[in-house]
Amino acid sequence: MTYFQVKKNIKDALLPISGEFADYEAEKIVCHVFGVDKRTLTLRYGEEAPDVSEEIQIAVARRQNGEPLAYILGKTDFFGLEISVSPACLIPRADTEVIVEKAIEFLGQKEAKVLDICTGSGCIALAVAANSNASVHALDISEEALKTAESNAERLSLSGRMTFEKCDIFSEKFTSDEKKYDLIVSNPPYIPTGDISALSREVCREPYGALDGGADGLIFYKRFISTLPQKLLPGGAIIFEIGYDQRSALHAICENAALEHEFFRDYGGNTRGIVIKP
Ligand code: GLN
Repeated sequence: MTYFQVKKNIKDALLPISGEFADYEAEKIVCHVFGVDKRTLTLRYGEEAPDVSEEIQIAVARRQNGEPLAYILGKTDFFGLEISVSPACLIPRADTEVIVEKAIEFLGQKEAKVLDICTGSGCIALAVAANSNASVHALDISEEALKTAESNAERLSLSGRMTFEKCDIFSEKFTSDEKKYDLIVSNPPYIPTGDISALSREVCREPYGALDGGADGLIFYKRFISTLPQKLLPGGAIIFEIGYDQRSALHAICENAALEHEFFRDYGGNTRGIVIKP
């Protein structure tokens, strides 16, 4: 069978579950299984492919069973970086790339200090470190997620400017820590608890703790607003990812705390982030 036929068979098998993404996912699976990049695959389309049908069947069956592609491949792309992921961390979303863009724009070439809270796979922290001169301290409550984030930093040769720490941001240890930063970024869990079960079966495979933002989806932001401004160096800023429908709630929270803020959108046109400059 040619490489093209292999891809076509995977695409056909994935169509009912992946719809318009079936071709993209089939290509990713073929590249992964044969260990080639997209360009090499295209050049080989007409050639006979080695028989790796068992490996492909396993990947397709996992995907048909609702497992997200990124967990099957163990990696995904984010902001031009290859990020390893495990089921212990949220899968980096394209929507989150605007958070990195805002952060880089704010930092410029400065040798700044950045704190990333709820780092997960480390995607925001890694992309910020890779595209600035900042040193980045990344926190998460999940030891498993931190292991993935740290190994990403090593593989991407960013360990020299990155540190990782297991930390519960609701703990006294976090509140009383006096370290200060030029920029604090976070994509915290922000889905209201009651909405989680209605999410797609792929999202339900992601760690509950990385999605659940409490009854109103806002517990992290409320906590942040009371603790983070005092962790900023003069001229510092805070950038959060927020849910597409959380703009007015975040506006009220910031108004209440008399914090200057502005919102920005993702490339889908949804409000996706907030910059706070105390
Ligand atoms: N954006 C993610 C989603 O829609 C949620 C991320 C989060 O809770 N921080 O599934």
